[in-house]
Amino acid sequence: MNIMWFCIPAFGHTNPTIEVVRELTRRGHLVRYYSFSDFREKIEEAGATFISCDAYLPALSKESERRLREVSTTEMSVKAFETTAMMDGVLAEDVAKCRPSVIVSDSVCFWGKLTAEKYGIPMVCSTTTFAFNQHSARYLKNSLRELADMILGIPRLNRAIRQLEPLGYHIKSALDIVQNKPETNTIVYTSKRFQPCAETFDSAHYCFVGPSVKRVAPAAKTGNPLVYISLGTVIQNHPEFYRNCLDALAGEKLEVLISCGRTFDRAALGKLPENARVEPYVNQMEVLAKASLFITHCGMNSASEGMYMGVPELLFPLTGEQQAVAQRVTEMGAGRQIQKSTAKDPEKLREAILDALNSKELQHAALQMREDFLACPGPSGAADFIEKIAGE
Ligand code: UDP
Repeated sequence: MNIMWFCIPAFGHTNPTIEVVRELTRRGHLVRYYSFSDFREKIEEAGATFISCDAYLPALSKESERRLREVSTTEMSVKAFETTAMMDGVLAEDVAKCRPSVIVSDSVCFWGKLTAEKYGIPMVCSTTTFAFNQHSARYLKNSLRELADMILGIPRLNRAIRQLEPLGYHIKSALDIVQNKPETNTIVYTSKRFQPCAETFDSAHYCFVGPSVKRVAPAAKTGNPLVYISLGTVIQNHPEFYRNCLDALAGEKLEVLISCGRTFDRAALGKLPENARVEPYVNQMEVLAKASLFITHCGMNSASEGMYMGVPELLFPLTGEQQAVAQRVTEMGAGRQIQKSTAKDPEKLREAILDALNSKELQHAALQMREDFLACPGPSGAADFIEKIAGE
């Protein structure tokens, strides 16, 4: 069958889909994956046809760029509406030409979800965060800044929505697109155990497939324990946090590796201690295979990958969504949150890191999460679900 797959330009939203795409193409399905040049290689390597959407990303003013760096929901939504409008013509032609049996769209990829709705094509939502309904939403505590951004952004969003009406998109609100309904067919890249309030999601429509990661076996831990630090690929500008971690661990019998992101200026960190390395990007699964502790911002993927590899975590969430993940990892006993005052003080930070490295409870809980994730249906379960929705 023909499948159209849509995703936003973000590693955290793209990476979990790759193994599912590989499974679908292995089964002989044709997947047209609408994405962006940074992800081309991965997508093609998984057997899909890559369709570049680079030309449909709106030009950004300095102000827009700043807001997007701060993960402004309003800015992201307005830009997503603009992309939807720009892609309307080409998607009309592609839908007519390919006649997809199903569209798979990332949960925040407006143009994918709206295309499925406009042409009445069965849709599967690909959710790389937790699934949210009125029960699990209590895990989402937006900061005042995030709330102000959403409220003040309403008039701008309404203008963007009105401009899409003549193209045949009938949209109530940005939230209405993002928020899934109980009957939205959804694959969620986590386990029922890790999903908050999992019992409130109808199992006919929600398929918890587990973290979709390339299976890497944990490596034997020889030499000094490795502490791996990453704040993900989106928010990267936290030199003071990295510096405090480096100062905290300088001279300890530990190896420290920071993945700082491609846009981060490594010179801002000054001289590195002898036991530390800082890289713009690493193969995170391979690093986690050797790591004894993961200091993470709690992006859903990173936190899950850490637990998948049975690595205890210290949690340093930066957004409301990451805070929800941090809360859940803490509830599972597989990680501990770093308090703000600790993050600012290398001495306290050292204590927290050494404590976590020596904690048998954390190690035990992280290994239990690994067992739980390994028992999930995985990419093949996700592919079965997509085939079922397509009526195959
Ligand atoms: N990642 C990676 N190498 C790095 C940093 C990140 O491979 O050096 C991957 C990581 O394995 C994860 C994704 O990028 O799959 C980040 O997603 P996440 O949801 O954790 O955070 P985001 O970057 O979206 O904030």
